[in-house]
Amino acid sequence: MEIEYTDAPTQVQPESADTMQCPYCGAILPKGAEACTECDWTREATTPAEPKASDAMAVLLSIIPGLGHIYKGHKLVGFLWMFGAIPAGIFVFLAAIASAGFGAGLFLFYMAAAMLHAYAVEDRIVPKEDEGEQY
Ligand SMILES: [Zn+2]
Repeated sequence: MEIEYTDAPTQVQPESADTMQCPYCGAILPKGAEACTECDWTREATTPAEPKASDAMAVLLSIIPGLGHIYKGHKLVGFLWMFGAIPAGIFVFLAAIASAGFGAGLFLFYMAAAMLHAYAVEDRIVPKEDEGEQY
C-alpha cells in the first residue's frame, strides 16, 4: 500500500485539512493563511477582537484615567475621562477626609471604569499595513 501525496490539488476541496476558504471571495487558501491572494481579506480583519498588546497597554495607562484612550488615538474621549477624573478626584478626596481615608478607594472605581473602557474601545491608530479599507 502506498499513499502518494502531491501538492497539486486535483479537485477543489473547500474545507480540507490543509486548506481554508477565504471568507470574502471563497478562494482556496492554505490553512492558516494570513491574507487572501485573490482579494484584500486579511485574517486580522475578520478575527474576533482578541486582546491586543495595545489593550493591555491602554489598561495600564488608565491608572491615569484617559491616558489609555489617548494612547489608542481617542484623544477627545481620553481628555473627557481625564477631565472627569478631576471632579471625581475632588469628590473622592472629600470622601476620603470624611471617612478617614476609607473613601479613597472610591477612586479605584473610576479608574476601573476608565480601564474597562480603554480596553473595550477600538484602536483608532492602524498599527501596521495601510490597505484600502475604506471605499
Ligand atoms: Zn479572498
